[in-house]
This record gives sequence, structure tokens and C-alpha cells, in this order.
Amino acid sequence: MTRILSGEPQEAEGHDRAMRPQTFAEFVGQEPIKANLKIFIEAARGRGEALDHVLLFGPPGLGKTTLAQIVARELGVNFRATSGPVLAKAGDLAAILTNLERNDVLFIDEIHRLASTVEEILYPAMEDHVLDLIIGEGPSARSIRIDLEPFTLVAATTRAGLLATPLRDRFGIPLRLEFYTPEELQRVLNHASRKMGAELTPEGAAEIAARSRGTPRVAGRLLRRVRDFSEAEGAKAIDRSSASRALARLEVDEAGLDSLDRRYLRCLIEHYGGGPAGVETLAYAIAEARDAVEDVIEPYLMQQGFIQRTPRGRIAAARAYTHIGLIPPPAPKG
Ligand code: ADP
Repeated sequence: MTRILSGEPQEAEGHDRAMRPQTFAEFVGQEPIKANLKIFIEAARGRGEALDHVLLFGPPGLGKTTLAQIVARELGVNFRATSGPVLAKAGDLAAILTNLERNDVLFIDEIHRLASTVEEILYPAMEDHVLDLIIGEGPSARSIRIDLEPFTLVAATTRAGLLATPLRDRFGIPLRLEFYTPEELQRVLNHASRKMGAELTPEGAAEIAARSRGTPRVAGRLLRRVRDFSEAEGAKAIDRSSASRALARLEVDEAGLDSLDRRYLRCLIEHYGGGPAGVETLAYAIAEARDAVEDVIEPYLMQQGFIQRTPRGRIAAARAYTHIGLIPPPAPKG
């Protein structure tokens, strides 16, 4: 899915790296998370111990990887990164774990996609800093135990509900990232435009921020596309009107929804009578992967009050009807 509003990384988004905040001070928003982490980091440093394991959850593009890197930097330790789908065999994880130095940070993105055989060796590693490996096969198989250096696992997942309870329970510091406010995104955009050497007026920043789905990665991406348009127009600065013209061409509407969001809402309302409709059904109807629907499309539509999630399925709220130009049905009595 290549989509301008997707929170997931696209093309080689190398810009991401250049724009990445390096310290808590540069990391905009998520104040409660930063405040807690600072205290825990200070305490761990003071004791010379590894920080407790951290679980970060929230939709793609909200800053989980960035936070993990900042944690390592503030702890003054090395940062190693991998991801659930990359760790195919227990040996892949074992190789990484045995190479960690004392109190290092290991970041595992998409931890919910870890194979169960890999998950099993992760448990004793997280709890007792040991690795239990089986060597050989059949009757000659034997298990060996390797001691590891203490380390901090910082894991990221798009939804906490995807993790098995035993795994979730092993994180001492679970943290949920929230969507950013338009004001916070405006700060992200100002910072990014300075780094890009582009002139962005406050009104231009507000226009882009309001349409970035509460997601810094989307804000950065829209800024780059809007700059392309305004350069092509020969504009000196990105102001409200050039931003708004560019966003219209990108089919991002005033509520920050793109054509896929609108297709989702239209499908829910026109084909399923406004719901309840199951996510599987909706994903199939709009020809998108269920994961993309649940991770990228729905969290923002829910947060903005366009849809509700119920045990029986998704329901369109009144706002969804008016947004696509329809009259909402009367509210049920009682
Ligand atoms: P995730 O791991 O949650 O998908 P990333 O950490 O990769 O998200 O962040 C995506 C992009 O957004 C990066 O370019 C990063 O620099 C930027 N970003 C994320 N959070 C912030 C923030 N709080 N302040 C400034 N930039 C941010």
C-alpha cells in the first residue's frame, strides 16, 4: 500500500533519519511518556543497572523507533535494532543477544510478529539473562545454557492486544503513544522545514499539521510533497494557500482523510448500512490487507469520531455520514 497518509515508512525514507530527534528535548509531545522514561533512566543509570524492559505501542509513525534510540543515547549504551519478521529462527536472536554489551538497548520492532520458537528463547533472556539452546537433533540433542549480559529490550507493536499475555507481562514499562495534536505537529514541521532549508509560514504549517492524521511521519511526508508543488509553482515560501492547493492535489481533505479513508467510510455506510460490519469484510471490500485497515486506517477514524468499534463490528458515526455528504440516520431512541 503506497499511500501518502500511511504512517508506515515508504520508498527509502532516508529523510526520516536526518529529521530524527536525538534527545528528549527535541522529541515533541508525548509528555507523560518522556517524564516517566527520564525518571526510570536516571534511576537505572544511578544504580549502574540495565533499564527495565520497555514496551511501546501505538500506530505506525508516532515515534516508537525514535524514542528507543533516545533511550539508548540517554542511558549511554549501544543501540541494536531488529524486527519480529526478520528474526526467523531462534539462532538469529541468539546471535544478537550474545553480542550485546552490558546494559545495551535491543530494539525489536513489530514484536507481535515474532515466531513462537524465537519468543520462547526470549523469555529466559529477558528474565534471567540466560539463553537456553538445544544443540543437535533426536536422541543426541542436548540443551546448553549461556549467560548473557543484562540488557534492556525496547519492543514496539502497533496494538498491545496482539501480544500474548506472557510476553506482555514481561515488560516492566509499558507505554502507549498517543496521536499528536495539531500544535505539536506544527512544531515537528517547523523543525523539519528548517532542516530541509525550506521556508514555511505559520499558516502553512498549521494547514499541513491539521491534515497529518496526528502522525509525525505523515507530517514530514506531506511537507516534502507540498514543498515539491510550491517549488514547481515558483513560490518563495510554503504558505496557507500553496499548502492547501498541494494537499488538494494529493487528495487529502480538510479532515486529513485521503481517498482510501473515504472509500472505507463509503463502503461501511453504503454497502453495510453504516454497520456493524466486521473488519475482515470491510478490508476485503476495499481490497486492503486487514492489518493495514486495523493499524493505519481505523485508529485515526476512531480517534476522530468517524467510526466506533463494537463487539459486533464497526459502526459509522454521524460525522462519517456528513463527511461524505450524506444525512446521518436519526439516533436510536432510549
Ligand atoms: P514508529 O517507529 O512509531 O513507526 P518513527 O520513530 O520511525 O515511528 O518516527 C517516524 C518519523 O517521525 C521519523 O522521521 C521521526 O523523526 C519523526 N518523529 C516521530 N516522533 C517525533 C516527535 N515526537 N518529534 C519529532 N519528530 C518525530
